[in-house]
Amino acid sequence: MSLLIVGTTALDSIKTPNKENPRLLGGSASHAAVAASFFSPVSLLGVVGDDFPEEYIELYKKHQIDLSGLEKAAGNTFHWEGEYEVNMNNRKTLETDLGVIEDWMPNVTSPLNEKAYILLANCAPQLQHHVLKQMKQPKFVVADTMDLWLNIARHELEQLLNDVDCLVLNDSEARQFTEEDNVVIAAQSLHKYGPKYVIVKKGEHGAILSGPSGLFIAPAFPLDNVIDPTGAGDSFVGGLVGYLASHDGDIDDNLRQAIIHGTVTASFCCQGFGLASTTTTTRECINKRVEALSKLVAF
Ligand code: AMP
Repeated sequence: MSLLIVGTTALDSIKTPNKENPRLLGGSASHAAVAASFFSPVSLLGVVGDDFPEEYIELYKKHQIDLSGLEKAAGNTFHWEGEYEVNMNNRKTLETDLGVIEDWMPNVTSPLNEKAYILLANCAPQLQHHVLKQMKQPKFVVADTMDLWLNIARHELEQLLNDVDCLVLNDSEARQFTEEDNVVIAAQSLHKYGPKYVIVKKGEHGAILSGPSGLFIAPAFPLDNVIDPTGAGDSFVGGLVGYLASHDGDIDDNLRQAIIHGTVTASFCCQGFGLASTTTTTRECINKRVEALSKLVAF
C-alpha cells in the first residue's frame, strides 16, 4: 500500500565533540522517507529553497522516493543547527531557520491525496493538519512532534491529535505534554487526546507502545559506535510506517514488528553523520539486525 510522508526537507549543520558538518541533507521527512524506502514505495511532500543541492535530490532518487510532491521555492531551505555533548544523549539546538517552509501550505492533489498510509513527520502541527485534511481515505495516520511545537502551538497540536491514529514523541515530550513524570502513565494518558496508539521513544533505551492490546516494549539495538544520532527518531518512525505500509492487514497484528524494524533502521542512522549510514544500508542488513535483536531479547 502506498505511503505519503510530509515534514521538513532540511540542511542540517551538526557539531559533535569530534567534528563539524555543515549543510548535510537532513529534515524529519528526509530521514523518515529514506528509512521507509527500505520497506515500501514512498512519496515525499516537502519544500526546498533554491540553495538545495542537486546531489541531495539524487540521493532521494537513489532510494526511489517519489518527488512529485517536492516543491522548489525561492528562498532558503529549512536550516537546523545542532550541537552534541560528549554524552550524545544531550543535544542543543543552536539555530532553526524555517526558510521556505515557514509559509508553505501545499495543495495535495491526486494521486498524492489518495495514499493510504500517512506519516506527518515532525513539522508545524498547522501544516500537518492542513495536509491531513486533504487526504481522501487515509487508512492509518501517524504523527510525530517535538517540544518546540508543544511550546508554541499546543492548541493546534491538540486539534491535530483528534484526527490521528498514532502519536510518536519522545519521553521528555510525553512528560511535558501530560505533566506526568511516569512515562507509562504519560503514554496511557495521551490516548484521551485522540490517538488509539501512542509510542514513546526513549533514545538508547528503546520505545514503549501503548495501544488497545496494552503495552509493548522494544529495546534499542545496542551500538558501540554512535557517530551522530540526528534523525534517529525520524528514521524510527519512517521505518515503522514503511513496514506497516508493506504489510497490509490488521495494524494490531503488525505494529510490534513495525516498531522493531523502525528501531533497527534508526540504529543504522546513528552510525554516520546525517544520512550517510542510512543511505548505504540495505534491506538485507536490516533483516540481519532484526534477527540479532530478536536473539538478544529472547529468554
Ligand atoms: P531527531 O534527531 O529525530 O530529533 O531529528 C532531527 C531532524 O529533525 C533534523 O534533521 C532536523 O532538520 C529536523 N528538525 C529539527 N528541528 C525541527 C523542527 N522544528 N521541525 C521539523 N524538523 C526539525
